[in-house]
Amino acid sequence: MTILNADLHCHSVVSDGTLTPEDLAQRAKSLGVELWSLTDHDEIGGQHRAAAAARALSLPYLTGTEISVSFIHKTVHIVGLGFDADNPQLIEGLHNTRGGRDVRAREMADQLAAVGIGGAFEGALKYAGNPELISRTHFARFLVEAGVCKDTSEVFRKYLTEGKPGFVPHRWASLANAVRWIVEAGGMAIIAHPARYGFTANEEYALFTEFKAHGGQGVEVVTGSHSVADYDTYAGMAREFNLAASRGSDFHSPTESHTDLGQLPWLPGQLTPVWELLTHRIQ
Ligand code: AMP
Ligand code: MN
Ligand code: MN
Ligand code: MN
Repeated sequence: MTILNADLHCHSVVSDGTLTPEDLAQRAKSLGVELWSLTDHDEIGGQHRAAAAARALSLPYLTGTEISVSFIHKTVHIVGLGFDADNPQLIEGLHNTRGGRDVRAREMADQLAAVGIGGAFEGALKYAGNPELISRTHFARFLVEAGVCKDTSEVFRKYLTEGKPGFVPHRWASLANAVRWIVEAGGMAIIAHPARYGFTANEEYALFTEFKAHGGQGVEVVTGSHSVADYDTYAGMAREFNLAASRGSDFHSPTESHTDLGQLPWLPGQLTPVWELLTHRIQ
């Protein structure tokens, strides 16, 4: 069977989504997804649940995660697909990557308190299904609840981003390590939503070149956070760097996400879909 509707990027309560892995599997199936992956940030604790739920629905599944990486002066996300979810090196690497989030979150809350928004650490923590994964998304939900902003998009415009109150720079995993953990666990590393980073052309070239040199093999071309023009741009980059192409909604929540599971255009033609190189890893 030729797969078209693959959705290989979304989040559950195990990181910063609002649905359980089981509810996401059900939603993916009912929206016509033909191949699914749950890619929680820096955590693979939901993988066995997601795979079991997918199996019960006869929904083909690839293991997944989205690793936070510091590259030059920015945070880049690397999606891993089709790895062994019990690989000790990957589990340990992700555990260490999560390590700094608690201290960072307390500093974010201190900055917010300084501009008159109290109780943000406790408020955000209440939304974090997994306290180790406390993220800006959980702060955004608290700021909406507290009436500071009308929705989470407004929160990210006014707070939590570079130059705004509540932004605390953080050192994540290195690109080399993130790619290595994924590849050595039998999976494929993929640059997530490249249009989001705001790199210069030279910086982006460096990212793609170093990513390839470390063993990375794919790039997201069609994702919920790319425009139609971005699809073309990164289809071109996939060809130039001889990378396979991925497709994923980056769905987090029915009330917050613009793109629901599987509700995206097909990949542009003449690209190699990542799943064609991962058929042996599909469960
Ligand atoms: P963190 O890993 O704590 O830095 O949080 C990153 C998460 O914040 C991302 O995975 C998104 O879910 C969310 N996020 C970042 N920027 C935005 C934005 N502009 N609008 C909505 N959500 C965002
Ligand atoms: Mn997220
Ligand atoms: Mn991301
Ligand atoms: Mn994501």
